[in-house]
Amino acid sequence: MVDLKGQYRKIKKEIDDSITEVMESSAFINGPAVKKFQANLEKYLGVKHVIPCANGTDALQIALMSLNLKPGDEVITVGFTFVATVEVVALLGLKLKLADVNPGTFNLDTNRLEQAITAHTKAIVPVHLFGQAADMEKIMKIADKHNLYVIEDNAQAIGAEYTFDDGTVKKLGTIGNIGCTSFFPSKNLGAYGDGGALYTNDDKLAEKIRQIANHGSKIKYFHDETGVNSRLDSLQAAILNVKLKYLDNYIKARQKVAGYYDNAFKNCDKIQIPERNKKSTHVFHQYTVKVKDIDRNGLKDYLNKNKIPAMIYYPHPLHLQKAYEYLGYKKGDFPVTEKLTEIVLSLPMHTELDEEQLKYITEKVLEYAGKQ
Ligand SMILES: *Cc1c(COP(=O)(O)O)cnc(C)c1O
Repeated sequence: MVDLKGQYRKIKKEIDDSITEVMESSAFINGPAVKKFQANLEKYLGVKHVIPCANGTDALQIALMSLNLKPGDEVITVGFTFVATVEVVALLGLKLKLADVNPGTFNLDTNRLEQAITAHTKAIVPVHLFGQAADMEKIMKIADKHNLYVIEDNAQAIGAEYTFDDGTVKKLGTIGNIGCTSFFPSKNLGAYGDGGALYTNDDKLAEKIRQIANHGSKIKYFHDETGVNSRLDSLQAAILNVKLKYLDNYIKARQKVAGYYDNAFKNCDKIQIPERNKKSTHVFHQYTVKVKDIDRNGLKDYLNKNKIPAMIYYPHPLHLQKAYEYLGYKKGDFPVTEKLTEIVLSLPMHTELDEEQLKYITEKVLEYAGKQ
């Protein structure tokens, strides 16, 4: 699904130099590499504050902690996402409410969102799944109307841009109150270990987030609130400083792969290419097709047998997981999410795929679809 080694080889010298610099300085915790990365990412995103942290899950947790919510306050998100999005809500004792997704874009269905809002709702966590935006224009309007916070789960869409009706263009994650991202190695901007960040244009929230991520402390040994310890490692920051320079090129490489897939499958109605949100660029964290009238698991097995990795993101709706049984949801509550878990398949998507590999992958997919 990814080729991290191939990608590393191309920038090996720069990465190795950057790592050596950290080793030589021994500034392993919050060293200059972290400050540099913070500044570089602020500039790239066009956002006032970036607060690096240990991973994307922490970013989401700290974001929610910064809003002064009380137990029982409701947070709305989707059940068609990586578990981290819902996990942090539950962990903080907040009331998790789910809404269904759009069958085309896989993102939060804004019609369902309004229906899920109650007097106790305090925040919405849209996920920009697979690399393109949820319908942020509508989500922000709904949030304004009901006075809700918006925390964008941007773990899969760093670098993607959203164009509002009035022509304003913003990077995803900088539209709501707080954006959260992950630098997990396979993410679009991946470190060589764990990492994450929060971003915001709100000075007060930024200060609060920094404090929470640092044991609830602004001044050493003075703790104004209960916080956590969540830092981006200096070595990871040094790696990310190099990789951030290439992010736009990496995105272009992914879009090129997507273009190849689109073209290969355009005349095959059994393989439905991912629908695009017209207001968003797509950075293709995943290229996820929907199958029609063919056996999805059979296709996956066929590809795997032919040494092509293909994965199901996500195979089980979160509202039907054991951990979330207590929410009281049942089968049939989110029909789109449930259906998608049965028909989606993500194909290999990364920066190092060449034409020969793409030809082989698409031929095998079409071969299976043709036999059915
Ligand atoms: C990867 C991911 C996360 C969590 O990031 P980690 O760095 O692995 O903690 C959260 N949400 C989504 C949608 C993700 O894809």
